[in-house]
Amino acid sequence: MNPPSRADARAIGIDIGGTKMAVAAVDAAGTLHARVTLPTEAELGFARAVERLAGAIAAVCEQAGWPPVGLSGIGIGCAGPVDPARGWINNPYTLTGWDRCDIVTPVRARFGVPVRLENDADVAAVGECFAGAGRGFDPVVMLTLGTGVGGAAIVRGAIYRGAGGEHPELGHLLVASDGPECYCGARGCLESLVSGTAVGAAGRAQGYAEARAVFAAARAGEPAARAIVDRAREALAAGAWTIFHTFLPRRLILGGSIGEAHFDVFAAAIRARLARATQFTAGGVEVVPAALGNDAGVLGAAALVLG
Ligand SMILES: [Zn+2]
Repeated sequence: MNPPSRADARAIGIDIGGTKMAVAAVDAAGTLHARVTLPTEAELGFARAVERLAGAIAAVCEQAGWPPVGLSGIGIGCAGPVDPARGWINNPYTLTGWDRCDIVTPVRARFGVPVRLENDADVAAVGECFAGAGRGFDPVVMLTLGTGVGGAAIVRGAIYRGAGGEHPELGHLLVASDGPECYCGARGCLESLVSGTAVGAAGRAQGYAEARAVFAAARAGEPAARAIVDRAREALAAGAWTIFHTFLPRRLILGGSIGEAHFDVFAAAIRARLARATQFTAGGVEVVPAALGNDAGVLGAAALVLG
C-alpha cells in the first residue's frame, strides 16, 4: 500500500469472520495498540452485531488511550461476498441472515469518521503489504489456504479489481480437469483440491477424521495420506504457475491455517515448478509465508483508511 499520509494517524481495523470478529486499534506504523475478539453470532441478527462492534470499537479506543474523535477512519474486512462500493455485506452463506446489510452507514453515523468495507481476502493481502511479508514489494498476490481458498492481488499499491469492481476468484483456477466437482460449477479448481474442506473430504474416504489428520499422517509417511497431500501440493503448484504467468508478482504469499502450517510442503512444489519457468527472470519472483497470522485482517482493514 502507499505510505500513510500522516505518520501519527490512527485507525480501527475490524475483521469479521463466520465465527469470530476482531477489532483493533492500529497506528500508521502498523503497530497494534489494542485488540479484542468477540463471537460473531450472525444468527442473532445484523443490527445486534453492529451494536456489539460499536461497543468493541469504544473499548479498544479506551484501551489504547485514543479519543474516538481523532481517528482517521474505521476499516472493515468481512468474509465475502461483499459490495465495497455500497458498503454492503451480501453473505448469507456463512453469516446467517446477512444479505444486503449496509454496515458502513451505521458505523459512520455512530463515530463520524470515514468507513470502508472490503472482502477479507483482499484485506489480508493489504495487511501483509502494509506490515508483513509483502511490505516493499509490488505486485503481490496472496493465497489464503484454510477452510476454502481465497486470493487477492495488490497491484500498484491498490486492490486489483475486475469487472463490476469484483475481485479475482483465485480459488477457482482450474488445475486438474479430472478433479472433484466444485460448487462454482467447474471441476478440479484449487478449492476442490487444496482447501481444508477438500483435503478433509478426501481423507474421510480413506478413514482419516479431518484435514489435520491427513497432513499429520502424510508427514509420518502413510501412503494414502501422502497421495492426498501430493495431489493438493501439485494442484497448488499448477495454480501458482498460472498466477506467476498472469500477474508476475514479486511475491506470492501463502497464508491461512493450512498455508502457514504446511508452507514448506507447498512451497517446495511451487519452487520446483518455478525452477523450470523460462518466461520471466529467475529470482525475480518468490513464494513466501504470510507473516502476520491472525492479525493480517485487522491490520489490513486499518490500512484501508490510513493511506
Ligand atoms: Zn471452483
